[in-house]
Amino acid sequence: MLIAANKAVSIDYTLTNDAGEVIDSSAGGAPLVYLQGAGNIIPGLEKALEGKQVGDELNVSVEPEDAYGEYTAELVSTLSRSMFEGVDELEVGMQFHASAPDGQMQIVTIRDLDGDDVTVDGNHPLAGQRLNFQVKIVAIRDASQEEVAHGHVHGEGGHQH
Ligand SMILES: [Zn+2]
Repeated sequence: MLIAANKAVSIDYTLTNDAGEVIDSSAGGAPLVYLQGAGNIIPGLEKALEGKQVGDELNVSVEPEDAYGEYTAELVSTLSRSMFEGVDELEVGMQFHASAPDGQMQIVTIRDLDGDDVTVDGNHPLAGQRLNFQVKIVAIRDASQEEVAHGHVHGEGGHQH
């Protein structure tokens, strides 16, 4: 069976940045299970995995435009502390969920604190970075109709609901 749209795919992977630092890895844990063609993983990796089979190993370098996007200075803004009512203590590096102008939920990270000014960054933490994946395909199966309808995988390694 080859990886194609609507297949549930299990992969072992290690993700490193260009400096060789490990950002994420399934090593020592369960494989990542995702639904091919549903945008569960970044586009560049999904494209590279298309047509592959169990046992295949590949190294994929994904440019920012096919990963988490370019770093956008416009996503950095300065807010007043009063916007963070209910948060006891603000710290650099804290992350919050916020809704973007297009209604999408995004995560913003506090970059700087200066008096009443809170500088937040809506870029994905991996924006602007080339991502290097070392991937081994562990399993491929047909997704159920329900999984396809939901756009994600159920059961072990997937959504539990
Ligand atoms: Zn579901």
